[in-house]
Amino acid sequence: MPKQVLPGRSPMSAGVVAALGLALALGVPASLRAQRPPELRGSLDKLAEQNRIADENDLTRMDGPAVIRRLVKSGYLVSIPRRGRGYYIDRKLGRGYARRDVLCYARPWVRKFLQREGGHYADEFDGARFKVSSLVRTEGYQELLRSRNPNAARGDQDDTRSPHLTGSALDISKKGMSPRRLAWMREHLVTLQAIGWIIATEEMATNTFHVFVQPDFGPPAESVWEAAPAAGKGSAARHSKAARTRAGRSKRVR
Ligand SMILES: [Zn+2]
Repeated sequence: MPKQVLPGRSPMSAGVVAALGLALALGVPASLRAQRPPELRGSLDKLAEQNRIADENDLTRMDGPAVIRRLVKSGYLVSIPRRGRGYYIDRKLGRGYARRDVLCYARPWVRKFLQREGGHYADEFDGARFKVSSLVRTEGYQELLRSRNPNAARGDQDDTRSPHLTGSALDISKKGMSPRRLAWMREHLVTLQAIGWIIATEEMATNTFHVFVQPDFGPPAESVWEAAPAAGKGSAARHSKAARTRAGRSKRVR
């Protein structure tokens, strides 16, 4: 099997980040993204890559509701609001699973993705919201999904475990999305993947976009984007120093 080439991560200048932002804002003609782009095709290599990144970051897989509760307490998982700007959680999420109350959590960087990209979506489409159909999963819930849909990742081999078990993934439903919104979402995900912030696939069997959010999703705190005028330069610098200290401390199972 040919090796899947995934985007590498390299430090970017503020100028490059700003240019990418502009490209995102301008988008491309819908006609160019009327179908699944090759960049969003799924593959075993792409799945293995998500598991590799999760391992590198010592991310725990949720073998049951108790682990989720524990990681929520310690702050490694966060609650995702049912409705936010530009997105909402599917009411049917977790249907048929006895402990569906534990499924509305995710890693902090998934919440960051939703806040940021939900905001872009709402800006672009007059306050519209996209539907989030899956966040963190337990092994039991994954089993349930697999019994309904053979496309759901198998859990019996390290490389093919579902990235949802780590809390770093979300699914965005395509159901009912207009061609213009679909095209925008495809272009958006392709761009975010190219700069190394996410790994995304468009899944035909489940009619969703699967998004694995990288733990360091988003522009670095010291870039022009995050240095909000109100916060002032000094506070932005202090903030990013604190973030680096936290990152240094987090090298353990979480
Ligand atoms: Zn998924």
